[in-house]
Amino acid sequence: MNAAAIDQSMMRHALTLARRGLGRTWPNPSVGAVIWRMEGEQPIIVGRGFTQPGGRPHAETEAIAMAGEAARGASMAVTLEPCAHHGKTPPCAEAIIKAGIIRVISAIADPDPRVDGGGLAILRSAGIEVVTGVLADEARAVNLGFIHKVNDQRPLITLKLAQTADGYAGVTGRQLMVSSASSKQRVHLARANHDAIMVGVGTVLADNPDLTCRLPGMMQFSPIRIVIDTHLSTPINSRLVETCGTVPTWILIGPNVSENSVEVMQEKGVIIERVASNANGHLDMRDAMRVLAKRGVTRILSEGGPLLAEALVDADLVDTIEIYTSPDRLGREGVLAVRPGLRARIENKHLFDGAEPVAIGRDRLVHYSRIK
Ligand SMILES: [Zn+2]
Repeated sequence: MNAAAIDQSMMRHALTLARRGLGRTWPNPSVGAVIWRMEGEQPIIVGRGFTQPGGRPHAETEAIAMAGEAARGASMAVTLEPCAHHGKTPPCAEAIIKAGIIRVISAIADPDPRVDGGGLAILRSAGIEVVTGVLADEARAVNLGFIHKVNDQRPLITLKLAQTADGYAGVTGRQLMVSSASSKQRVHLARANHDAIMVGVGTVLADNPDLTCRLPGMMQFSPIRIVIDTHLSTPINSRLVETCGTVPTWILIGPNVSENSVEVMQEKGVIIERVASNANGHLDMRDAMRVLAKRGVTRILSEGGPLLAEALVDADLVDTIEIYTSPDRLGREGVLAVRPGLRARIENKHLFDGAEPVAIGRDRLVHYSRIK
């Protein structure tokens, strides 16, 4: 392997580590770092790390701690520019210098204005060789939630929709189970790598869902639950409210809800945020996302309701869309999963890039990604 191929392979490894932290590091980005030394032609990995739950310790210091003395004279691959600001811990750029690392390859610059270029400048001024842009596109995809939070004041949004073969989400007042066991497993995995699951209040009223990650051994990775609820109609005895001591529940409400109703919910332990409403009296989704980004949320999985899905896409806030289609038909009139306006936008080649359908158990999954 030549040097560039080794750099890429180490960065690929660091990106795999970074993906492990997704959903657990917010408000910080999930970063991966690998430290290696050359023995003859062979790279030998001596340290690995990724951002720990809650956002610290950072990946670089984890990898340095693992490498110990072996870091001296070694190289580091890191998926995001090392931090340069003094927060609760000293900056990683200083830790890298102190550890004696002589070469750093970084995939992308930190969009955080407190860092942006500063981390790499500190390394360079200490005489460390710095290479940037290695697997930058992949790193951007891993960090997209954090990048959106910093640059666009909104989290990344993955929109999940499920429909019957004839296009229905369910019948009024009740959502049908349109996903097979394999699809459900995949959705629960997606829940674990997002910071929050979001639904509209209609889904709460219809299904009284838990919205937790129920894969064996992954319960503790359940993200927070967010309800879009203009008039605060979420029942006080709903599961989302009753279990908010275990997994946090946040409810976003409109300007007209009485202070009294807010207090009742807050006493139960629910976090309430007021959001601006638009001319139709619905919550302004852009303002809602601004509020969430301000509180540090970087990645949202939106699972609830055709109306919420449409509002998010209309406001140009959706990064990826996953549509699960069951082979079973509802066979009568129901609630359309994808309303005609939304379908037109999803299928617009200037807005979204649709992949070929894949089989997930009995279901079919089509994945659309936003065109920048
Ligand atoms: Zn750091």
